[in-house]
Amino acid sequence: MTEIADRPIQTAAADVELGRVSHWINGRIVEGASGRHGPVYDPATGRQSKTVDFASVDEVDAAVAAAAAAFPAWRATSISKRTDIMFKIRNQVDVRRKEIAALLTAEHGKVPSDALGEVARGLENLEFATGIPHLLKGGYSEQVSGGVDVYQIRQPLGVTVGITPFNFPAMVPRWMFGNAIACGNTFILKPSEKDPSASLFIAELLHEAGVPDGVFNVVQGDKVAVDRLLTHPDVKAISFVGSTPIAKYIYETGTKNGKRVQALGGAKNHMIVLPDADIDMAADAAVSAAYGSSGERCMAVSVVVAVGDVGDPLVNAIKQRLPKINVGPGSDPAAEMGPLVTREHRDKVASYLDKAVTDGATVVTDGREAPAAKLDGFFLGVSLIDNVQPNHESYRNEIFGPVLEVMRVKTYEDAVRLVNDNPYGNGTAIFTRDGGAARQFQFEAQAGMVGINVPIPVPVAYYSFGGWKDSLFGDLHMYGPEGVQFYTRGKVVTARWPDPGTSKVDLGFPRTR
Ligand code: NAD
Repeated sequence: MTEIADRPIQTAAADVELGRVSHWINGRIVEGASGRHGPVYDPATGRQSKTVDFASVDEVDAAVAAAAAAFPAWRATSISKRTDIMFKIRNQVDVRRKEIAALLTAEHGKVPSDALGEVARGLENLEFATGIPHLLKGGYSEQVSGGVDVYQIRQPLGVTVGITPFNFPAMVPRWMFGNAIACGNTFILKPSEKDPSASLFIAELLHEAGVPDGVFNVVQGDKVAVDRLLTHPDVKAISFVGSTPIAKYIYETGTKNGKRVQALGGAKNHMIVLPDADIDMAADAAVSAAYGSSGERCMAVSVVVAVGDVGDPLVNAIKQRLPKINVGPGSDPAAEMGPLVTREHRDKVASYLDKAVTDGATVVTDGREAPAAKLDGFFLGVSLIDNVQPNHESYRNEIFGPVLEVMRVKTYEDAVRLVNDNPYGNGTAIFTRDGGAARQFQFEAQAGMVGINVPIPVPVAYYSFGGWKDSLFGDLHMYGPEGVQFYTRGKVVTARWPDPGTSKVDLGFPRTR
């Protein structure tokens, strides 16, 4: 077994005062009083940098009470006023994007260019929400019967909740809260406890943009906070993004408690490379999509499926590119890939390399041997595993790290079978010059997002994001038009303004005339 840097986790020196990350309730920071808290690390140094408060049931209740109290006035606020505030939020995030990115680098570890990319993609979700006047328009049918008109309106739900993962601490919340509050709901964010600071920074930006107190709240915490949100009678809807077991739990518990739930889970994204593909282009795409953000992306390519005789040239092309990837801390301007989020996660990712060997796969490049793995902090170099089979542990689990697996199959049909038999169905991609094959793949792939010569097909903000199978529990995808649908409910009004003189009793079932 190859050892990676095996140093104890560094806690801050006794004389260093740790920053404290607290809650944001009713328009101000509220320091946690539960006595429970957790550590926040700088993954690039391995040192604890802050502590984050963990909310008690009472603290969650205070946030829900603030959100419930703010709802009537917020839903009655004119659409034009809400839109004006959405524009101001969008501008605040735009102007402060570097500060947000710096918080992501400090707590998640992603390098600045990647962090700025995350901020930019989330900005698009806020831009979409500025179009809410158009998005909330209903339908109107005149004269459906004599003197009768029917129209549909969409109304907000009330208190809505977002529970988010560590890997996109600034973007995933904006997948949710932009649409939620633009539609007239109030919102409570429960961010990941691993990198919680961006949530508070965003809360302050919303406050400065004119979001009324109680409309946007943040409770920090763990399962205690989540479980209270899942069962609180005043919470109407839950959006969740995270791992599949927790997503399933959130969906089952939330719906059992009468809530509308969309719960996005984990992924194992296959990139099929057909024999006619441009090998260099496919290798560039696979490397970029597998190792960007240290593979901690739910849309990362985790498996390349090499079809026919493409296997050897493709593996060689990928292998040649790996030594050039600069792994290092975000403070190094040359670094392209940062550390993993925690030591435990880094070690879990690394453990799959031994499992791959035991299962009979070939470790072509071992990230534990990279110079970066010797750095302080939670670093691991990039890894490439070839000859992976469907029954291998490394294939059957989501690794969520800088590990790319290669599976070799004989035919296109074999490749599609792998995609469709996999329990996850988040994203998938095909690389080919054959339009007919690509169209066939688009038709039959069992996944929510498909890329054609695009390795990470994250939809733009005016489409919706979501997987199939174990990658999503619930009916509606996140953000875009389905996000607006999720955060509103329909009401159909049937109206007539008859002459009272024509009125009479009629016990028959109403029908059109
Ligand atoms: P996670 O499931 O551990 O945590 C997600 C959220 O759930 C966090 O806020 C966490 O505090 C909370 N949580 C954790 N354990 C809980 C429990 N037992 N009960 C209640 N709440 C709990 O996920 P993570 O490690 O933060 O994020 C990585 C995972 O998220 C990966 O599986 C990745 O694929 C997935 N992800 C999916 C998407 C998507 O769009 N499908 C996007 C990003 C990340």
